[in-house]
Amino acid sequence: MDIQAIRKDFPILQREVNGKPLVYLDNAATSQTPQQVIDVIVDYYKRYNANIHRGVHTLSQEATDAYEAARQKIQKHFNIAHSREVIFTSGTTHGINLVASGSTSFLKEGDEILVSAMEHHSNIVPWQMLCGRTGATLKVVPMNLEGELVMEEYHNLLSDKTKLVFCNHVSNALGTINPIEEIIEAAHKVGAAVLIDGAQAAAHIKADLQALDVDFYTVSAHKMCGPTGVGMLYGKEEWLKKLPPYQGGGEMIAEVTFEKTTYADLPHKFEAGTPNICGGIAFGAALDYMNSISFDAIAQYEDELVRYATEQLLAIDGLKIYGTATHKTSVISFNIEGVHPYDIGTIVDKLGIAVRTGHHCAQPIMDFYQIPGTVRASFSFYNTKEEVDKLVEGVTRARNMLL
Ligand code: PMP
Repeated sequence: MDIQAIRKDFPILQREVNGKPLVYLDNAATSQTPQQVIDVIVDYYKRYNANIHRGVHTLSQEATDAYEAARQKIQKHFNIAHSREVIFTSGTTHGINLVASGSTSFLKEGDEILVSAMEHHSNIVPWQMLCGRTGATLKVVPMNLEGELVMEEYHNLLSDKTKLVFCNHVSNALGTINPIEEIIEAAHKVGAAVLIDGAQAAAHIKADLQALDVDFYTVSAHKMCGPTGVGMLYGKEEWLKKLPPYQGGGEMIAEVTFEKTTYADLPHKFEAGTPNICGGIAFGAALDYMNSISFDAIAQYEDELVRYATEQLLAIDGLKIYGTATHKTSVISFNIEGVHPYDIGTIVDKLGIAVRTGHHCAQPIMDFYQIPGTVRASFSFYNTKEEVDKLVEGVTRARNMLL
């Protein structure tokens, strides 16, 4: 991989922050956008901005074709059997809420839902709300100090009462890659359906959804070089047929009278209203861009970068890393003894370095470690070892100022 050539694709990486070259290490929150994707967005608004699926005019047809072509790119990328199993959403949160809302009709008191201890709030709160509506019980698969799920406990928790299992593919707060193959297989043995939150994995791991045999998988385009406000929910056709529509409105109907409405076929049943058309097309372009680099090359490079950053950061006096799983990717969460993470984040920002501080929408993980939050450096394929060195220099400086 020619990193310097790749960096030239990202105009934002040329900018300065506080008079210093930007070092962007907040990729787990959102990734940056290459010129190739920006061009697709500009081209859409300049040449064929129109509403889709409705018009007979040329612009509408072109927009529809481009949007449906993006759906097929997503299908191909994730090795999904049918494009009708690809639902465009506004992002991971939307996808999870769609499934949680629709599951109301299947659950009853006494049923159990399992979630992992290392979920993002968006993979906790909708299930709590679902339990509130149905009387089902939420059970938590615990984690250990390394930030790995205790799989023995998972197997013990599974029973014929388990109806749904939810887990992220990669933890946004710790970087742990969870053993989702084992999670899916064991859940299916007791007849439970599985939703995997792929938000944090999608930029690093190319998931083969047919091989995984997963029931639902959600991603957000903005974590993988696409724009915000668009994502996809994959659902196995049998599940998507069973789930009721999430929202009512235009596009999702077959026929409407005041007495009765019948719904459109998949995927439109779940796509009420005018979608983020340009966003969907740009999502497809982002996949093209990342695939042109190759996910294998990306994973290998990022692994090297994370290994190097881990070694360098651990050399700082008093620095502790949370999340030391054997299988992890692209996230390093850390604290320095006696220093608040927010103070480190503020000082390194003055040096042009963007890291995230806080609970990373995963408060239960912070409670587990009994800390208020962490500093999180998260990496992408366009980051360099020189940027890691700047981070280490910045954190060292912050430590010396604050202690
Ligand atoms: N799950 C995980 C693991 C995430 O990292 C995020 C984003 N931080 C989300 C869900 C929510 O994604 P979005 O805000 O794009 O809906």
